Order: sequence, then structure tokens, then C-alpha cells
Amino acid sequence: MSAPLGAPWPASAGRDGGALVLGGVSAPALAAEHGTPAYVLDESDFRARARAYRAAFADAFEAIGTGVDVYYAGKALLTVAVARWAREEGLRVDTASGGELAVALRAGVPGAELGLHGNNKSDGEIDAALVAGVGRIIVDSLAEVDRVAALAAARGVAAPVMVRVTTGVHAGGHEFISTAHEDQKFGLSVNAGPDGGDAPAMQALLRVQERPSLRLLGIHSHIGSQILDGAGFVEAARAVLRLRADLAARTGVLVEEVDLGGGYGIAYLPGEETVDPFTIARDIAHAVATASAELGTALPRISIEPGRAIVGPSGVTLYTVGTVKPVLVTGDDGATFTRLYVSVDGGMSDNIRPALYGARYHAELANRTSTAAPALARVVGKHCESGDIVLQEIRLPGDIAAGDLLAVAATGAYGRSMASNYNLLPRPPVVAVADGASCVIVRRETVDDLLALDQG
Ligand SMILES: *Cc1c(COP(=O)(O)O)cnc(C)c1O
Repeated sequence: MSAPLGAPWPASAGRDGGALVLGGVSAPALAAEHGTPAYVLDESDFRARARAYRAAFADAFEAIGTGVDVYYAGKALLTVAVARWAREEGLRVDTASGGELAVALRAGVPGAELGLHGNNKSDGEIDAALVAGVGRIIVDSLAEVDRVAALAAARGVAAPVMVRVTTGVHAGGHEFISTAHEDQKFGLSVNAGPDGGDAPAMQALLRVQERPSLRLLGIHSHIGSQILDGAGFVEAARAVLRLRADLAARTGVLVEEVDLGGGYGIAYLPGEETVDPFTIARDIAHAVATASAELGTALPRISIEPGRAIVGPSGVTLYTVGTVKPVLVTGDDGATFTRLYVSVDGGMSDNIRPALYGARYHAELANRTSTAAPALARVVGKHCESGDIVLQEIRLPGDIAAGDLLAVAATGAYGRSMASNYNLLPRPPVVAVADGASCVIVRRETVDDLLALDQG
């Protein structure tokens, strides 16, 4: 087999006799056995990334004298197998709904190693978390402090809670995935509200402390997604530590834990920058140590919540090419050129990110290599929508034809988890590959599955 392909492909990706190989299994063999489209997940790559994040942060925070917990953000992709891998590599699991909570519990993750997020949790979700004995419920509003308190009191338990705050730090790839600026739905601001009184974040912390059925564990901040440098995390850490010190000055209670969220960026295209967990862990640990020293407060235990950085690069989507159509296009400069529209057997239902965020991806022929001259191509799906684009612009071999396999890299995060049944397409399977074998961890939906929901 060839040398590893490198980013944005998973660690095991290479070529053998022209065909793309993932986890020791060739793309044509995967397509023959599991059909297309299919999400292929490199198990060893996932485990290695989980271990790297855990080791990087454990080392960096041990060096400054405190501990760290790494929570895998399940919303990126959560299946029973994936949750089990995360746990086996020493990660805990963050959930953001009753469904995610149920999958993590089914995987055998102990409640104490789970967190529950959400800006609009239902009573049912909160109660399920209490029954499971989750290690933390991250409250997102003043009203929710009261709701969790009432539900915990009814169960006769003291619920461990963190308060999610917004620090004003704006970071990340797109407005929709950037979550710590103030004009959005998540969290409570560390800055004073319009009435000039206590900041909403402080009000929530004080209210949690007043409720006997709540135990205030700490403060939570998640600043966004696809963040490529440490400056935003450092600034957010300082703001959270200041709030922690202010609360201690007011109430005498120094909360034990600070969660700095997820959002570590990955490479989607060849040559693109990516985050080195060891570098960013060191930068964040340094900031935490410095700010704590300046504030004169003991170091908190830290937690982080990477999702995309663990599972994103591990996933590849395999498609079969169908219609290939050259279209004569007039450019902005008035010159005409040909764009090759390459249709695949999936699209916006299995990867909404290009349509939702303008996200860019890389693709290659997966069943063969070609020496044909490259053509300017656009990869599109099969949905009834002209915005159903998988790759806006890419050069693909000019002889690409119906029946070829196309692999799109770095689709492990927010692909399957955001998939829909638009046009009533059954959602693709998730197929794990490792050591020359493949294993279906989520089966393909069938038309019968779709019809089973329809009550006529
Ligand atoms: C989405 C999310 C994460 C994970 O973000 P990634 O960009 O996938 O690392 C972590 N924490 C919270 C609260 C989130 O909402």
C-alpha cells in the first residue's frame, strides 16, 4: 500500500492498486459490502485523537498542578460504539438531549461521567439526567436553575450543576457556530445586564448556591467551533476565572471546576492549518495558571469538550457517481468555461454543512486513480434543490464517470449527526473500519423504516 495520504484523510488512509484504502479495507470492497452512500469511520484514528487530546491536556495541566477531564462532545457523532471507544480511551461524554443521553447510557458510560447541555432542556430530559445520576447539568438560564432545582428536590437529590456563561469572546468559523458573543441564545453574560445590576452569570451562580437541591460545581464557557488558535480560549479562561474569583469574594465559595468547552479546529482541505492539541493545551494551561496567580485563587479542575477534533478527521463519506453533466457557464468577466457537474447518490441529507455554513471539503476518486486532465467540477447531491452542493469547486479527473466511487474527507463530525430524510432518502450507515475489517455500527435506514413512522 502507498504511504499514508495525510490530512484531511484519516491516519489509515492510503492507496492500493489505485483504490483508496481505509482501515485496511478498500473503498470498492466497502461499497460492495455496505452500499453507498456510507459514512466510513476509522476506529484507530478516532481512538488516537481521543488519546492525544487526553494526554495533551493531562500533561499540560499536571505541569501547572491541577487535573483535567476531557469530555467527548457527543453531538458531533454519537453511536453506542463511538461512546464506548471514547470511554475506553479515558474520555467522558457530553450530551445535549435525552436522545444523546440514552445512547451514552446504552454504551455503558456511567452517569457520573456524563454531562447534559442544552439551552431549552425539557423537564423529561432533566429528569432522565437526574435518574441517570449525571455528573453535571450545565444550566443555561435563570429559569432553568429553578426548574432543575424543583425536579431535583422532587427526586430528593442534590443535582451537580455548572452555569454556562458568555464572555464576549468571539471565535470560530461561522456566525452560527460561534457561541460566546452576547447576541445569541446560549449562556448567561458575565457583563452587567441592561438594568445595571449583577451580571446574569453572577445572578445564576448566586441562585444555584441558594437552592438546597443544587450543588454548584463550577462555571462553563464554550466559545465556538472550528477555532484554529488559542487566543480566544485564553481570553475566555481569564474572564471565567475572574468571575470565579468575584463569586468567591462575595460568598466565600470558590467553585471547584471550570469547563472551557470545545471547538478545536481541524483541516478540511489538504494543506489547511489544524490545531495541535499539545500546543493549545500548553497555552490554555499557562493562561489558567497565570490568571489564577494574579487573582490569588487556587487552581480549578479544568474540563474541555472537543467533538469535531476527535471524530471529524476519522470519517469519510463514500458516494457512487451518477449523472455527470458538463455545463457551459459565463464567468464574472464575461468569459465562458465548462463546469462539470458530478452528481452523487447522497447530498445535503447526509452532509448539510456546505449548504448551512458554506463549509468546504476535499474529495478524491476512490475506486481508481486517473491520469486524465483535471476538470473544473462541482460535486452535487441528488436532492430537489439547486443548493444541494457537496463540493462547490474542485478539480477532478476529466474522465470521472457514472459508477466511479467518490470519497469526501473529514465528514466524521456533524455529518451523520445532522443528517435528515429530505426527499425521504434513507440515512446512510456508519461503518467502522479497523485492521482490515469493517463493521456496521449504525445500519442503513430503509424505506420500511420511513414508512414505519407514517401512520397513514
Ligand atoms: C458543540 C459543542 C462542543 C463541541 O464543539 P466542537 O466544535 O465539535 O469541538 C462542545 N461543547 C459545547 C457546549 C458545544 O455546544
